[in-house]
Amino acid sequence: MESTTLMMKEEEDKDEEDSLLLSPPTTQTQQLLALKGGAKHSRGNVPCSHGEHFSCHLPDIEDVTLKNEWDETETSVDFSPKNWGWIHSIDSMTSVDGPGLRAMIFFQGCQKRCAFCCNPDSLEENVGKKMATEEVFSALETKMTYYRKSGGGITMSGGECMLQYRFVVALAREARARGLTSIIDTAAAGNDMIWDFVLPHIDMVLLCCKSSHPVRYGKITGRPENFGVMLAFLAKLEEYKVPTWLRFVLMSSDDEKFQDIVTDGEEELLGVAALAKMHKRCVKGVEILPYHNFGAFKYKEMNIAYKLEQMKPPSDEVIRRAKRVIEGEGVKVLL
Ligand code: SF4
Repeated sequence: MESTTLMMKEEEDKDEEDSLLLSPPTTQTQQLLALKGGAKHSRGNVPCSHGEHFSCHLPDIEDVTLKNEWDETETSVDFSPKNWGWIHSIDSMTSVDGPGLRAMIFFQGCQKRCAFCCNPDSLEENVGKKMATEEVFSALETKMTYYRKSGGGITMSGGECMLQYRFVVALAREARARGLTSIIDTAAAGNDMIWDFVLPHIDMVLLCCKSSHPVRYGKITGRPENFGVMLAFLAKLEEYKVPTWLRFVLMSSDDEKFQDIVTDGEEELLGVAALAKMHKRCVKGVEILPYHNFGAFKYKEMNIAYKLEQMKPPSDEVIRRAKRVIEGEGVKVLL
């Protein structure tokens, strides 16, 4: 694939030009394994000896050496729109993930490592396709009428789009100028200042909370410290009254090794309902995303372990029950 021919603010050298190409799976696999400190089922360089228990196989936070761009001093955070970003892929026509007809823009890069993630190829940061704002919109040009007439627009997803919050703002501003709405599909990342910068440009948020329970959240995402970030983001959405759908992945299993991550328990479901009720000015309802294993083949292709190999999608009865429990709390449920 040819490299992009954008007008970048920054000077790019030849090496960086080459990195515009989407990395082949083998390269990504090597890089992912390097990030996780070694081959499958290992913690750093120490092989795991507890083969059966799921939580042993979650990536350790210490192993995730990804840079958190707002871990630095406040003054290093740049609050200006950035006219380019790292994109995984674009689906120019979808009718899910927001009202009307929409373009899904999948950002590259995420610092979480959710057990059920169906896009392991979108996790590594600073790879993928480097695209400018105008390049994204020219790729959508032929569909503009459909987006506008249906009250649709763009949905920025990932990966974690909020890791590239300056590009989110650039795209959202351009979308608004073209009469389109902007949605972010996020699991929460950033801080108060970043959210103050981004949210005035956003029409709706799809927030995947993962779990209402901090320990389970940590087991699912591999980033327990982000539970507080998710709660703080929800509070910020409440402050800005941004229409929000609170999402979570419904996982159910009798298998002992999955008991610390299943989300079909009453306590979990009531917790999600409580989160929605505590943020009534923004949360319009809860969206239940039944677990699926559609992304399992990608793990195989990338030669990394898929930790939920034996987990099955929840039965209709489990889904109906989850819906009943949440609705029983007076919270609207979307399935
Ligand atoms: S937040 Fe989303 S993209 Fe990131 S690891 Fe979790 S499921 Fe995957």
